[in-house]
Amino acid sequence: MKKLSIMVCMIVLMLSIGILNAQEESLNIVTTTTQATDLTTILTDGVEGINITPLMGAGVDPHLYQPTESDITAMNQADIVVYSGLHLEGQFDAVFEALGEQGVAIYAMGESVKDAGFIIGGFDLSEELTDVDDPHFWFDPRNWEITVLDLAETLAELDADNADAYLANAEDYNEQLQLLFEWANEGMRSVPEEQRYLVTSHDAFQYFGAAFGWQMEAIQGLSTEDEAGVGDIQGTVDFVIGNEIPVLFVESSIPPDTIQAVVEAVEADGGTVRIGVRELYSDAMGEPDTFGGTYIGMIAENVYTMLQSYQCAGAEVTIPDWAEGVEPAPPEDILNVDCEA
Ligand SMILES: [Zn+2]
Repeated sequence: MKKLSIMVCMIVLMLSIGILNAQEESLNIVTTTTQATDLTTILTDGVEGINITPLMGAGVDPHLYQPTESDITAMNQADIVVYSGLHLEGQFDAVFEALGEQGVAIYAMGESVKDAGFIIGGFDLSEELTDVDDPHFWFDPRNWEITVLDLAETLAELDADNADAYLANAEDYNEQLQLLFEWANEGMRSVPEEQRYLVTSHDAFQYFGAAFGWQMEAIQGLSTEDEAGVGDIQGTVDFVIGNEIPVLFVESSIPPDTIQAVVEAVEADGGTVRIGVRELYSDAMGEPDTFGGTYIGMIAENVYTMLQSYQCAGAEVTIPDWAEGVEPAPPEDILNVDCEA
Protein backbone atom coordinates (compact mmCIF):
# COMPACT_ATOMS: atom_id res chain seq x y z
CA MET A 1 0.00 0.00 0.00
CA LYS A 2 2.80 2.34 0.94
CA LYS A 3 4.68 1.43 -2.26
CA LEU A 4 1.61 2.20 -4.35
CA SER A 5 1.09 5.63 -2.83
CA ILE A 6 4.77 6.46 -3.40
CA MET A 7 4.33 5.45 -7.04
CA VAL A 8 1.22 7.61 -7.41
CA CYS A 9 3.12 10.53 -5.88
CA MET A 10 5.99 9.96 -8.31
CA ILE A 11 3.66 9.92 -11.32
CA VAL A 12 1.92 13.12 -10.19
CA LEU A 13 5.35 14.71 -9.73
CA MET A 14 6.59 13.55 -13.13
CA LEU A 15 3.45 14.82 -14.82
CA SER A 16 3.72 18.18 -13.08
CA ILE A 17 7.30 18.67 -14.23
CA GLY A 18 6.42 17.49 -17.69
CA ILE A 19 8.50 14.31 -17.95
CA LEU A 20 5.62 12.07 -19.02
CA ASN A 21 4.16 14.78 -21.21
CA ALA A 22 7.42 15.22 -23.04
CA GLN A 23 7.56 11.51 -23.85
CA GLU A 24 4.06 11.51 -25.28
CA GLU A 25 4.40 14.78 -27.11
CA SER A 26 3.64 14.56 -30.77
CA LEU A 27 2.70 16.91 -33.58
CA ASN A 28 -0.35 15.84 -35.57
CA ILE A 29 -0.34 17.32 -39.06
CA VAL A 30 -3.06 16.80 -41.64
CA THR A 31 -2.13 17.48 -45.27
CA THR A 32 -4.60 17.80 -48.13
CA THR A 33 -2.82 17.45 -51.50
CA THR A 34 0.07 15.15 -52.43
CA GLN A 35 2.30 18.23 -52.76
CA ALA A 36 1.45 19.29 -49.19
CA THR A 37 2.20 15.77 -47.93
CA ASP A 38 5.53 15.58 -49.75
CA LEU A 39 6.78 18.94 -48.46
CA THR A 40 5.61 18.33 -44.88
CA THR A 41 7.37 14.94 -44.90
CA ILE A 42 10.61 16.53 -46.15
CA LEU A 43 10.56 19.41 -43.64
CA THR A 44 9.85 17.14 -40.65
CA ASP A 45 12.52 14.60 -41.62
CA GLY A 46 14.50 13.51 -38.56
CA VAL A 47 12.04 15.02 -36.05
CA GLU A 48 10.51 12.56 -33.56
CA GLY A 49 6.79 12.38 -32.83
CA ILE A 50 5.47 13.69 -36.14
CA ASN A 51 2.20 12.14 -37.33
CA ILE A 52 1.18 13.10 -40.85
CA THR A 53 -2.31 12.23 -42.09
CA PRO A 54 -2.64 12.78 -45.85
CA LEU A 55 -6.16 13.23 -47.24
CA MET A 56 -5.70 12.96 -51.03
CA GLY A 57 -3.72 10.36 -52.95
CA ALA A 58 -2.27 10.07 -56.45
CA GLY A 59 -4.65 10.83 -59.31
CA VAL A 60 -7.13 12.72 -57.10
CA ASP A 61 -8.48 16.04 -58.44
CA PRO A 62 -8.32 18.52 -55.53
CA HIS A 63 -10.80 20.91 -57.20
CA LEU A 64 -13.49 18.25 -56.90
CA TYR A 65 -12.44 16.26 -53.82
CA GLN A 66 -15.08 16.33 -51.07
CA PRO A 67 -13.77 15.98 -47.49
CA THR A 68 -15.11 12.79 -45.86
CA GLU A 69 -16.28 12.53 -42.27
CA SER A 70 -13.02 10.89 -41.24
CA ASP A 71 -11.10 13.72 -42.98
CA ILE A 72 -13.03 16.26 -40.93
CA THR A 73 -12.41 14.31 -37.70
CA ALA A 74 -8.69 14.14 -38.48
CA MET A 75 -8.56 17.88 -39.19
CA ASN A 76 -10.43 18.62 -35.95
CA GLN A 77 -7.83 16.70 -33.95
CA ALA A 78 -4.83 18.12 -35.78
CA ASP A 79 -2.31 20.60 -34.41
CA ILE A 80 -2.09 22.05 -37.90
CA VAL A 81 -3.75 21.47 -41.27
CA VAL A 82 -1.45 22.13 -44.23
CA TYR A 83 -3.34 22.76 -47.46
CA SER A 84 -2.59 24.25 -50.85
CA GLY A 85 -4.96 27.21 -50.77
CA LEU A 86 -6.01 29.93 -53.26
CA HIS A 87 -9.21 27.84 -53.51
CA LEU A 88 -7.53 24.81 -55.06
CA GLU A 89 -9.41 22.63 -52.57
CA GLY A 90 -12.70 24.14 -53.76
CA GLN A 91 -14.95 21.86 -51.69
CA PHE A 92 -13.14 22.60 -48.39
CA ASP A 93 -13.90 26.32 -47.98
CA ALA A 94 -16.71 25.86 -45.42
CA VAL A 95 -14.74 23.22 -43.49
CA PHE A 96 -11.64 25.43 -43.28
CA GLU A 97 -13.75 28.30 -42.01
CA ALA A 98 -15.29 26.11 -39.31
CA LEU A 99 -11.88 24.74 -38.28
CA GLY A 100 -10.47 28.24 -38.04
CA GLU A 101 -13.36 29.26 -35.76
CA GLN A 102 -12.60 26.27 -33.54
CA GLY A 103 -9.01 27.36 -33.18
CA VAL A 104 -7.34 24.70 -35.34
CA ALA A 105 -4.24 26.12 -37.03
CA ILE A 106 -4.85 26.01 -40.77
CA TYR A 107 -1.99 26.86 -43.10
CA ALA A 108 -2.44 27.64 -46.81
CA MET A 109 0.80 27.04 -48.72
CA GLY A 110 -0.10 29.48 -51.50
CA GLU A 111 -0.61 32.51 -49.23
CA SER A 112 3.06 33.31 -48.61
CA VAL A 113 3.73 33.06 -52.35
CA LYS A 114 0.81 35.37 -53.08
CA ASP A 115 1.99 37.83 -50.42
CA ALA A 116 5.40 37.82 -52.12
CA GLY A 117 3.66 38.67 -55.42
CA PHE A 118 4.59 35.30 -56.98
CA ILE A 119 7.89 34.99 -58.87
CA ILE A 120 6.13 35.85 -62.12
CA GLY A 121 2.78 37.64 -61.54
CA GLY A 122 -0.44 35.96 -60.43
CA PHE A 123 -2.90 34.79 -63.08
CA ASP A 124 -6.48 35.94 -62.70
CA LEU A 125 -9.36 33.58 -63.29
CA SER A 126 -11.32 36.09 -65.35
CA GLU A 127 -11.97 39.79 -65.67
CA GLU A 128 -15.15 39.52 -63.60
CA LEU A 129 -13.33 37.73 -60.79
CA THR A 130 -10.07 39.61 -60.66
CA ASP A 131 -9.52 38.81 -57.00
CA VAL A 132 -9.27 35.09 -57.72
CA ASP A 133 -5.72 33.90 -58.23
CA ASP A 134 -4.53 30.93 -60.23
CA PRO A 135 -4.03 28.30 -57.50
CA HIS A 136 -1.36 26.23 -59.34
CA PHE A 137 1.54 28.28 -57.91
CA TRP A 138 3.79 25.24 -57.16
CA PHE A 139 4.58 24.76 -60.86
CA ASP A 140 7.25 27.45 -60.71
CA PRO A 141 9.90 25.79 -58.48
CA ARG A 142 10.92 29.28 -57.34
CA ASN A 143 7.40 29.84 -55.97
CA TRP A 144 7.75 26.50 -54.19
CA GLU A 145 10.98 27.69 -52.54
CA ILE A 146 8.99 30.51 -50.91
CA THR A 147 6.51 27.94 -49.60
CA VAL A 148 9.31 25.70 -48.31
CA LEU A 149 10.78 28.47 -46.18
CA ASP A 150 7.44 29.79 -44.95
CA LEU A 151 6.10 26.37 -43.94
CA ALA A 152 9.38 25.59 -42.15
CA GLU A 153 9.07 28.86 -40.21
CA THR A 154 5.46 28.05 -39.35
CA LEU A 155 6.43 24.60 -38.04
CA ALA A 156 9.33 26.15 -36.13
CA GLU A 157 6.93 28.52 -34.35
CA LEU A 158 4.51 25.70 -33.56
CA ASP A 159 7.23 23.36 -32.27
CA ALA A 160 10.09 25.57 -31.12
CA ASP A 161 12.10 22.61 -29.73
CA ASN A 162 12.67 21.37 -33.27
CA ALA A 163 12.91 24.74 -34.99
CA ASP A 164 16.52 24.20 -36.06
CA ALA A 165 15.66 20.89 -37.76
CA TYR A 166 12.78 22.37 -39.77
CA LEU A 167 14.85 25.34 -40.92
CA ALA A 168 17.89 23.19 -41.82
CA ASN A 169 15.69 20.80 -43.82
CA ALA A 170 14.22 23.78 -45.68
CA GLU A 171 17.64 25.17 -46.52
CA ASP A 172 18.92 21.82 -47.85
CA TYR A 173 15.79 21.24 -49.88
CA ASN A 174 15.79 24.72 -51.42
CA GLU A 175 19.31 24.10 -52.73
CA GLN A 176 17.91 21.05 -54.54
CA LEU A 177 14.99 23.07 -55.91
CA GLN A 178 17.38 25.66 -57.34
CA LEU A 179 19.28 22.94 -59.21
CA LEU A 180 15.98 21.45 -60.39
CA PHE A 181 14.87 24.83 -61.73
CA GLU A 182 18.14 25.35 -63.64
CA TRP A 183 17.94 21.85 -65.15
CA ALA A 184 14.29 22.25 -66.20
CA ASN A 185 14.89 25.76 -67.56
CA GLU A 186 17.75 24.59 -69.77
CA GLY A 187 15.71 21.71 -71.19
CA MET A 188 12.43 23.58 -71.71
CA ARG A 189 14.18 26.50 -73.42
CA SER A 190 16.00 24.14 -75.80
CA VAL A 191 12.75 23.79 -77.77
CA PRO A 192 12.57 26.42 -80.57
CA GLU A 193 10.56 29.37 -79.25
CA GLU A 194 7.86 29.22 -81.95
CA GLN A 195 7.11 25.59 -81.01
CA ARG A 196 6.78 26.06 -77.26
CA TYR A 197 3.07 25.35 -76.75
CA LEU A 198 1.64 23.19 -74.01
CA VAL A 199 -1.94 22.08 -74.61
CA THR A 200 -3.67 20.33 -71.68
CA SER A 201 -7.16 19.58 -70.44
CA HIS A 202 -7.26 22.17 -67.64
CA ASP A 203 -5.32 25.35 -67.07
CA ALA A 204 -2.81 24.19 -64.43
CA PHE A 205 0.43 25.22 -66.12
CA GLN A 206 0.42 29.02 -66.36
CA TYR A 207 3.17 29.44 -63.73
CA PHE A 208 5.11 26.61 -65.33
CA GLY A 209 4.86 28.27 -68.74
CA ALA A 210 5.82 31.68 -67.38
CA ALA A 211 8.84 30.16 -65.60
CA PHE A 212 10.18 28.37 -68.67
CA GLY A 213 9.02 30.54 -71.58
CA TRP A 214 6.18 28.37 -72.91
CA GLN A 215 2.65 29.36 -73.99
CA MET A 216 -0.25 27.51 -72.45
CA GLU A 217 -3.63 26.55 -73.84
CA ALA A 218 -6.23 24.47 -71.99
CA ILE A 219 -9.70 23.19 -72.78
CA GLN A 220 -11.00 23.96 -69.29
CA GLY A 221 -10.15 26.94 -67.09
CA LEU A 222 -8.29 27.13 -63.80
CA SER A 223 -10.71 24.77 -62.07
CA THR A 224 -12.26 21.51 -63.25
CA GLU A 225 -15.54 22.31 -61.45
CA ASP A 226 -17.28 23.47 -64.62
CA GLU A 227 -17.54 20.91 -67.39
CA ALA A 228 -15.94 21.63 -70.74
CA GLY A 229 -18.46 22.65 -73.39
CA VAL A 230 -18.48 22.21 -77.17
CA GLY A 231 -17.19 25.79 -77.54
CA ASP A 232 -14.19 25.04 -75.29
CA ILE A 233 -13.29 22.00 -77.40
CA GLN A 234 -13.66 23.92 -80.69
CA GLY A 235 -11.58 26.83 -79.37
CA THR A 236 -8.75 24.44 -78.53
CA VAL A 237 -9.07 22.67 -81.91
CA ASP A 238 -8.71 26.01 -83.71
CA PHE A 239 -5.71 26.92 -81.54
CA VAL A 240 -4.00 23.57 -82.23
CA ILE A 241 -4.57 23.79 -85.99
CA GLY A 242 -3.71 27.52 -86.17
CA ASN A 243 -0.39 27.04 -84.37
CA GLU A 244 0.46 23.65 -85.93
CA ILE A 245 0.81 22.10 -82.47
CA PRO A 246 1.98 18.47 -82.76
CA VAL A 247 1.32 17.13 -79.23
CA LEU A 248 -1.49 17.33 -76.66
CA PHE A 249 -1.17 16.18 -73.06
CA VAL A 250 -3.50 14.21 -70.80
CA GLU A 251 -3.33 14.94 -67.04
CA SER A 252 -3.19 12.13 -64.49
CA SER A 253 -5.97 13.56 -62.30
CA ILE A 254 -8.42 14.29 -65.14
CA PRO A 255 -10.29 11.90 -67.48
CA PRO A 256 -8.75 11.94 -71.02
CA ASP A 257 -12.12 12.45 -72.82
CA THR A 258 -11.77 16.13 -73.68
CA ILE A 259 -8.23 15.75 -75.05
CA GLN A 260 -9.44 12.75 -77.09
CA ALA A 261 -12.26 14.89 -78.48
CA VAL A 262 -9.74 17.53 -79.61
CA VAL A 263 -7.53 14.87 -81.26
CA GLU A 264 -10.53 13.48 -83.16
CA ALA A 265 -11.65 16.93 -84.30
CA VAL A 266 -8.14 17.88 -85.49
CA GLU A 267 -7.87 14.58 -87.39
CA ALA A 268 -11.33 15.06 -88.89
CA ASP A 269 -10.00 18.36 -90.21
CA GLY A 270 -7.12 16.53 -91.91
CA GLY A 271 -4.49 17.40 -89.30
CA THR A 272 -2.25 15.08 -87.29
CA VAL A 273 -1.61 15.43 -83.61
CA ARG A 274 -0.26 12.98 -81.07
CA ILE A 275 -0.82 12.43 -77.34
CA GLY A 276 2.15 12.88 -74.98
CA VAL A 277 4.37 9.85 -74.28
CA ARG A 278 3.10 9.86 -70.68
CA GLU A 279 0.38 11.66 -68.74
CA LEU A 280 1.36 14.91 -67.03
CA TYR A 281 1.03 15.42 -63.30
CA SER A 282 -1.02 18.57 -62.82
CA ASP A 283 -2.83 18.82 -59.49
CA ALA A 284 -1.83 15.43 -58.08
CA MET A 285 1.59 13.82 -58.02
CA GLY A 286 2.32 10.14 -58.74
CA GLU A 287 1.95 7.08 -56.51
CA PRO A 288 4.05 6.99 -53.31
CA ASP A 289 7.51 5.43 -53.78
CA THR A 290 7.64 6.33 -57.47
CA PHE A 291 9.74 9.08 -59.08
CA GLY A 292 6.62 11.14 -59.84
CA GLY A 293 5.42 10.63 -56.26
CA THR A 294 7.82 13.37 -55.07
CA TYR A 295 7.66 17.06 -55.94
CA ILE A 296 11.11 16.98 -57.57
CA GLY A 297 10.29 13.82 -59.53
CA MET A 298 6.88 15.18 -60.54
CA ILE A 299 8.35 18.38 -62.02
CA ALA A 300 11.20 16.45 -63.65
CA GLU A 301 8.97 13.71 -65.08
CA ASN A 302 6.70 16.39 -66.55
CA VAL A 303 9.73 18.04 -68.18
CA TYR A 304 10.92 14.69 -69.59
CA THR A 305 7.40 13.89 -70.81
CA MET A 306 7.07 17.24 -72.60
CA LEU A 307 10.55 17.20 -74.15
CA GLN A 308 10.41 13.55 -75.22
CA SER A 309 6.94 14.04 -76.70
CA TYR A 310 8.14 17.00 -78.76
CA GLN A 311 11.23 15.04 -79.76
CA CYS A 312 9.01 12.16 -80.92
CA ALA A 313 7.00 14.70 -82.94
CA GLY A 314 10.21 15.76 -84.73
CA ALA A 315 11.15 18.93 -82.82
CA GLU A 316 14.82 19.82 -82.21
CA VAL A 317 15.15 19.28 -78.46
CA THR A 318 18.16 18.91 -76.17
CA ILE A 319 17.38 17.05 -72.96
CA PRO A 320 20.08 18.06 -70.44
CA ASP A 321 21.87 15.50 -68.27
CA TRP A 322 20.26 15.12 -64.86
CA ALA A 323 21.32 17.71 -62.29
CA GLU A 324 24.13 16.13 -60.24
CA GLY A 325 23.17 15.55 -56.60
CA VAL A 326 19.42 16.16 -56.97
CA GLU A 327 17.37 13.35 -55.40
CA PRO A 328 15.54 11.33 -56.50
CA ALA A 329 17.38 10.75 -59.79
CA PRO A 330 15.18 9.71 -62.74
CA PRO A 331 14.84 5.94 -63.31
CA GLU A 332 15.70 4.30 -66.66
CA ASP A 333 12.08 3.88 -67.76
CA ILE A 334 11.64 7.66 -67.63
CA LEU A 335 14.89 8.37 -69.49
CA ASN A 336 14.21 5.93 -72.32
CA VAL A 337 11.04 6.31 -74.30
CA ASP A 338 9.65 4.50 -77.33
CA CYS A 339 8.04 7.05 -79.68
CA GLU A 340 6.02 4.36 -81.43
CA ALA A 341 4.48 2.90 -78.24
ZN1 LIG B 1 -6.10 22.52 -61.19
